[in-house]
Amino acid sequence: MTANNLYGRLPSVDRLLHLAEHHNLPERHGRTNTLVRIRQLLDEARQVIRQQQQLPSWIGNRDIDEPQLCRLLADGLEKQSQPGQRRVFNLTGTILHTNLGRAQQAEAAIAAVTQVMRHPATLEYSLANAQRGHRDQAISQLLQELIGCEDACIVNNNAAAVLIMLATMAAGKEVIVSRGELVEIGGSFRIPDVMKQAGCKLVEVGATNRTHLRDYQQAITDQTALLMKVHTSNYMIQGFTSAVSESELCQLGKEQQLPVVSDLGSGSLINLAEYDLPAEPMPQSMIADGINLVSFSGDKLLGGPQAGIIAGDKELIELIQHHPLKRALRCDKMTLASLEATLNLYRHPERLPCELPTLAKLTRPLSELNAQAQRLLPVLRQLAGSHFHLQAEPSMGQIGSGALPTEQLMSIAITFNPKSGSNQSLHHLAEQLAGGNIPIIGRIHHDKLWLCMRGLSHEADFIEQINTLIANQHQEIPA
Ligand SMILES: *Cc1c(COP(=O)(O)O)cnc(C)c1O
Repeated sequence: MTANNLYGRLPSVDRLLHLAEHHNLPERHGRTNTLVRIRQLLDEARQVIRQQQQLPSWIGNRDIDEPQLCRLLADGLEKQSQPGQRRVFNLTGTILHTNLGRAQQAEAAIAAVTQVMRHPATLEYSLANAQRGHRDQAISQLLQELIGCEDACIVNNNAAAVLIMLATMAAGKEVIVSRGELVEIGGSFRIPDVMKQAGCKLVEVGATNRTHLRDYQQAITDQTALLMKVHTSNYMIQGFTSAVSESELCQLGKEQQLPVVSDLGSGSLINLAEYDLPAEPMPQSMIADGINLVSFSGDKLLGGPQAGIIAGDKELIELIQHHPLKRALRCDKMTLASLEATLNLYRHPERLPCELPTLAKLTRPLSELNAQAQRLLPVLRQLAGSHFHLQAEPSMGQIGSGALPTEQLMSIAITFNPKSGSNQSLHHLAEQLAGGNIPIIGRIHHDKLWLCMRGLSHEADFIEQINTLIANQHQEIPA
């Protein structure tokens, strides 16, 4: 049959809509959506004719294969209605996974956000005198209590915090930073580039592995506006090294009447060593050491929403609050509500491991992870069938988001080892796990697929998800 004849056999939009109506598709997905999907399907059919000189498989020899047509329409409509940002199970072993949304919020934060989304709120309104208030006020007061700062300013993320600190305090001037601390965080956040954007001149001192106090001292000129420390959060320089501590730098800053600021990256408001986790620098000790400003993220170890927190001297915070960039970088009411509720939890530190999902995950004991793995092995074996060897084994997780780069987190993972040794079956399995309603994201490493238990909460949902995948496996119609 010539292509022209084939085009002639394509059904009309009206006929397909009629069939779709018969199967209640417009009722379920809306008439407009259904029409869009029908036109899309016809476009695809014309492409098949053009490229392969044959009809698509949903048009049989005599007529339309109606069940197949409806399945194609429904699948497409189903897919289109899925949001771009979907819930997943993060079993990658990286708890604060930037690509998977970093920290999960505490229930108190979720409740607070819901309130301000639904109702008017005192975002910039003072109930005490019915006058304009400041949107960062409540959080600043909490931080004063929690970390001993004089004041605080909240912006969109920590990258924004660094940018506005530099732009406010050192535009057109020199900022001294150790060569060993010129970090790139990823996603084009590099300290030298941020300096340029802020209009500052970067003065690098020391060598990559060693920087001494005298290096800073000798670099100070009448153009110097700021001494800066950057936490080397995603790498570690080991061996013959030397760095100047914040407290030493603060001493020098005082002598020279220069402000000292620190970009902490993650920062932790609690001493992680008390939870048998590797210690991470704390903003309160920086403040106690006399730092003028310290900045850190809201959604890393703090466990709150994406935000950048700048805490420190009142007069410097005041300057930042009045910088034109603040208007561009300020947070919305949802972020502020969530951050306030999260910080509020830190007033009851003994409850934190229960109430802060990030800390809950980081502190889950190995025995619990192991018990969970044992519970899940049977159902996962059912999914994997006879092609894989499954076992629960020790694995190395990490906190993620640049926190504690070299310290690994002991964990337990369920591993899938293909009996054929074929990597192809591993990728197929990974695709299958990611193809469900709630995608399950693991990690392929050393020719195995690893599902790390440390990131797994909502176990009942997980089991339901696996059972659905198993059911779909049995339903799969041979092509
Ligand atoms: C993560 C990080 C940043 C960027 O923080 P965001 O909140 O992701 O914008 C900046 N500096 C350091 C040292 C970091 O670790």
